[in-house]
Amino acid sequence: MKLSLPKGTKDILPNQIHLWQKAERVFAEVCAQYGFSEIRIPTFEHTDIFERGVGNATDVVRKEMYTFEDKGGRSITLRPEGTAGVVRSFIENGMGSMPSPVKLFYNITAFRYEKMQKGRYREFHQFGVEAFGSSGPEIDAEIISLLCTFFERVGIAQTRLCINSIGCPSCRPIYHQALVEYFSDKVAAMCDDCKARYEINPQRMIDCKEQRCKPFVTEAPRQIEYLCQDCRTHFSGLQASLSSLDITYEVDPSIVRGLDYYSRTVFEFVSDHVGTQGTICGGGRYDRLVETMGGPSVPGIGFAMGVERFLMEAESQGVVLSEREPVKLCLVHMSDASYQKVFQLAHRLRRAGISCEVDLMGRSFRAQMKYANKLGIPYMIVIGDDEVASGKAKIKRMKDGFEMDIEISDLPEQAALFMNESKKEI
Ligand code: ATP
Ligand code: MG
Repeated sequence: MKLSLPKGTKDILPNQIHLWQKAERVFAEVCAQYGFSEIRIPTFEHTDIFERGVGNATDVVRKEMYTFEDKGGRSITLRPEGTAGVVRSFIENGMGSMPSPVKLFYNITAFRYEKMQKGRYREFHQFGVEAFGSSGPEIDAEIISLLCTFFERVGIAQTRLCINSIGCPSCRPIYHQALVEYFSDKVAAMCDDCKARYEINPQRMIDCKEQRCKPFVTEAPRQIEYLCQDCRTHFSGLQASLSSLDITYEVDPSIVRGLDYYSRTVFEFVSDHVGTQGTICGGGRYDRLVETMGGPSVPGIGFAMGVERFLMEAESQGVVLSEREPVKLCLVHMSDASYQKVFQLAHRLRRAGISCEVDLMGRSFRAQMKYANKLGIPYMIVIGDDEVASGKAKIKRMKDGFEMDIEISDLPEQAALFMNESKKEI
């Protein structure tokens, strides 16, 4: 038996979980404030959902998918991202008839067979949103502002926001042609991926990160120079909206995004702290995706943020995403008879919503005190035979020994009162 994690996966251990929970909670809160509702989609889908929804020409579909045949002979794929599954659900559940825009958010794991690097895993997490039915550009600005609010709320400085427009089906073919001409005498010197992209979708060559391709890519024509009037108006509308919200951005004509279905607005939040690629979050508009996947003609826009990369960024900015809360109260017993009592009291306290610990290791009095100390439990009640007999005990604040008498029969109420009052005093 190989007792180790598969490459590219990780455990999120109890000493890290509070970071995740805080990020998840804040993301859900911010989404709710912007009127987004949560959607939960399955971990796997029929493979063709991703082939159609992500695009056959993408690296994700060509190289990175975890695809297998199930026992019924169906081709199944672990989701490499969230958009395709959400769009499938949007169509299948007839969400096109809901009041527009339909605004959804998700918190998922995603799976890609990739080379392990800093910030690059085979199972990773994404927070994302998708909004259907509005062609923007105000909604584009709204979801970007949602991200800015999220960053602000968790206390990280906004990372670099880069935006671009990659045109629409009416202006893209002209650009396509310009790229084909430009790369025609260069493609032979470029990487194998670019050779393949040249045949399938030369626009993807702009996204190449290979050192040998970079000089050619830097000089290549940019979509932004080939935008039609409608795309140009849309893009300047987005910029005006962002400026009106005081959101700092830069236009980066080299952003094309890895996925095929984007049109017009694409954007990324980038940072120097999160590994070679630097992208914490990527998003964009996909006005023809719903239709391409067999649904009504409904425009859409969304983003996905890599949670691991977001947490790396938070850490490198020195942000403490709240400390883990230890349980509040330790009930210490001094005899077999009082143990019975303490055990029952713990049950009552927990039912009343007060977190507490009770000995489960047969520890001596001293050892129980030591254990409570190690865990950093802030309050303690010691119960021995005398306390059981008199029905009275003392609750003590550990940091300074401040204590108060309480009636054991009223324990939950009196303990809660003491802990609240003594918190105010500090
Ligand atoms: P990259 O350029 O880093 O490969 P991508 O364009 O493939 O990113 P998207 O498909 O747009 O990424 O996914 C959105 C976000 O999910 C990325 O910006 C990144 O933060 C995160 N992400 C993507 N792939 C991984 C991975 N293998 N491990 C961890 N996070 C990832
Ligand atoms: Mg990728």
